[in-house]
Order: sequence, then C-alpha cells, then structure tokens
Amino acid sequence: MNFLTQYRRFRINPLIARNFKSTTKRNAKPDFVGTCALLVAALYFSSPLTCQAAVNEVELDNLTWTEAQHRITSGSTTILVPIGGTEQSGPYVALGKHNVRAFLLAQKIAQTLGNTLVAPVISYVPEGSIHPPVAHMRFTGTISIPDSAFESMLEGTARSFKQHGFKDVIFLGDHGGYQKNMQKVAARLNREWANDPTCRVSALPEYYQAVSVSYVNTLRSRGFSMAEIGTHAGLADTALTMALDRSLVRADVMAHAAKPSESEGVYGDPRKATEELGQIAVKQIIDASVTAIKHVTAAR
Ligand SMILES: [Zn+2]
Repeated sequence: MNFLTQYRRFRINPLIARNFKSTTKRNAKPDFVGTCALLVAALYFSSPLTCQAAVNEVELDNLTWTEAQHRITSGSTTILVPIGGTEQSGPYVALGKHNVRAFLLAQKIAQTLGNTLVAPVISYVPEGSIHPPVAHMRFTGTISIPDSAFESMLEGTARSFKQHGFKDVIFLGDHGGYQKNMQKVAARLNREWANDPTCRVSALPEYYQAVSVSYVNTLRSRGFSMAEIGTHAGLADTALTMALDRSLVRADVMAHAAKPSESEGVYGDPRKATEELGQIAVKQIIDASVTAIKHVTAAR
C-alpha cells in the first residue's frame, strides 16, 4: 500500500489508518513487538523509550511526544510544514491534489535531507470570496478561509515548533495564491525573533518556483506550448499530480475527451499529461527544495 492510500485512510478515518498500519507491521515483522521489548529492556536505563520504527519515521503525526522530543534533542531540528489546499482542478483531477502532493513531496524532501520531520498538512487555505464566489470557489468542493485565519494558523504552527525546540520551520506551499501570506508570516516572525534567533521561519519559494518556472521551461524545451502547459489543471499541473498519485487523475476519460475549457475550471490542456513527464517535476521540486533548505539551515 502506497503513501497516498495510507494518507487517505488517515484523513478519512484515523482509527482505520492506525489499525491498518499496526496490522501491516505485525504481518510484515511477526517479531516486531518482541524485538522492541528486548530493545526497550536493554536500553531502559540509558536511552529514551523509543523503538526502531520511530527512528526512521519523518511524520510528526506518527510519533509520540517522547519520541518527538528525543528526535529534536538528537538533531532533527528542522520541520517541514506542507501546505496544500482544497480546490477544484477541472473535471479530471481530484479536489485534494495540493494536499496529497504537499504531503508526499514533504516526505521525500525530509527523507533526502535527514534530521528533518514533517508536520501535518494544512489543507484549509484562502481561495477568495465565498459569497459571491470568485475564482475556484465557483466550483463545487473548493474550501476558502479568510487570509487572516490562514496567517494565524501558520503563525501558531511556527510558534509551537519554536517552543518545542525546532530551529528551522520551513513552509512548503503547493498552491500559488497564498505564497505572499507565507512570506508575510515568516517575515513577521523573524522580525519578532531577531533578538532571540533560536528559531527561524522560511517560506521556501524554491518549492513552488520549481514547477511554476523550472518545470514550465523544461516542458517548453520539449516542444509543449504554453496553451498546453497552462497555469491551473493544465499539462504541468496534471502530470505532476499523476506522477505522485495516478488515482487522483481520471486519465482514461481525459485522454478521449475534448479540450476542457476555463468554464470547467481548466487553464491549459492536460490531455498529453503522463506520469513520466510528471516525474521530471517531482525531481525538480525535491532537488530545488533540498538545496534551498540546506542553504537556509547551514547559514544558522
Ligand atoms: Zn492551487
């Protein structure tokens, strides 16, 4: 079972997801409990209570507070905050596109970096006026919250992680519209913490620019037009989504359909999107983000 399926089960019913995970672990390693018991017994008087399973885990959601504390004191002082959104992407891409992408990409970035944890996904974001509805709010399923609520949520999240001893809080925003809000919150907190620089916040623009600039240039160099690449739910957006989770895209229907229009919520032409094309974007996002985060953390 892949990350996405686990992610979905977790979002739909945390109990089912946790039961599934523990069942999977039991099936995969029948001696898991025994091994952990021995480890705990052997290390009880010299180390914090933490099983091997937690050592390689990057999701904060899956750690106990004692495991999280141990990870921070052991050097995992960077935390990624994946920011998604719930918005329409035309008739062929599911509403949770940003949430799943941000979650999976943050995991891959954290695993590449090492010493990095991943916060729960922020999936409620500003999408503009609800009544009268504007932009994506005109389409069923999009959720919009006020800018002020979004910024407060980011701010509270960063303050929480500073309190717990993280040194770098990194916002990874998968959607274009709220990049300015991320920057604003990071600048505000860094100003406030200038005299107590134990923690810094970075609204990593490189994560989003890897798609909006680098990936678009790559697709153009391969002969695709801007009319195909698009700006929302077009070729670039759809291929990236397919590469991370093909079940989010109704590829068979899309391939035989007429070009979807802006009145359906599509800006571009997604019909030539493939997983292979999307893998280019996945690599570009991971590479650009890892380089930028290393730069940010090394400067401290
Ligand atoms: Zn978006």
